[in-house]
Parts: sequence; C-alpha cells; structure tokens
Amino acid sequence: MPPKVDLKKCDGCKGENEPLCVSICPGDLLFLNEESVRAVCRSPRDCWDCMSCVKACPQGAIETKLPYQLGYYPAKLIPLMGGKRVSWTCIGQDGKVERFTYKNRN
Ligand code: SF4
Ligand code: SF4
Repeated sequence: MPPKVDLKKCDGCKGENEPLCVSICPGDLLFLNEESVRAVCRSPRDCWDCMSCVKACPQGAIETKLPYQLGYYPAKLIPLMGGKRVSWTCIGQDGKVERFTYKNRN
C-alpha cells in the first residue's frame, strides 16, 4: 500500500534542507506539494513498502500498510542494491516469487 501522509502531523520538515522522507525514498516517489507544504507520493503504485519514509519522518506522519501477501511466514521482501538500481525479490506467503527493479535517484 502506498504511504499515507497525515496532513495534520506533517510540517513539511521545516528547518531541513530537504524533507527527510523525500531524501530517503529510494524510488524518488515523494515530493513536497508547494501549496500545502506537505509530502505527497507522486506514484503510489510504484511504492514497494520499504518503510524508509515511515522510519525517517520525525513527526510520525507517514503510515503504510503491508499487502497481505507479505503478512505471514514465509513471506519475504529482499532488497539488492547494485549500481544505479535496486532490485527487490518478493516471496509471497504462497511461495510465489516476483522480482522488481527500479532506478535509484542518483
Ligand atoms: S515506503 Fe519506501 S518506496 Fe514507498 S514511499 Fe516510502 S520510502 Fe518510498
Ligand atoms: S518526513 Fe514527515 S514531516 Fe517531513 S515532509 Fe515527510 S511526512 Fe512531512
């Protein structure tokens, strides 16, 4: 599930050079809406639930929900960083294996 930003809690990371969720998202999916000054996910379908933004947010403003396929043993989500790409191997609770590769920001 894509990240859900609590607009009442998010303060746009005022005082930071760049919002922490924006700088940490490996998929470059988050940006700051100029009008609301709140974080927004530009492409929810591309979020792979890595939870980095959830952990980075100092306001506790971001919530994600794991898809049910990852909810129980033996489900795994395994990242592999390499050069300008990150590859994810997703093993669902039914043993189905899927692989996704995304470009990094840098
Ligand atoms: S959960 Fe990960 S991939 Fe999804 S928006 Fe947050 S940092 Fe980006
Ligand atoms: S890290 Fe949290 S407070 Fe900062 S912009 Fe992102 S959602 Fe808002």
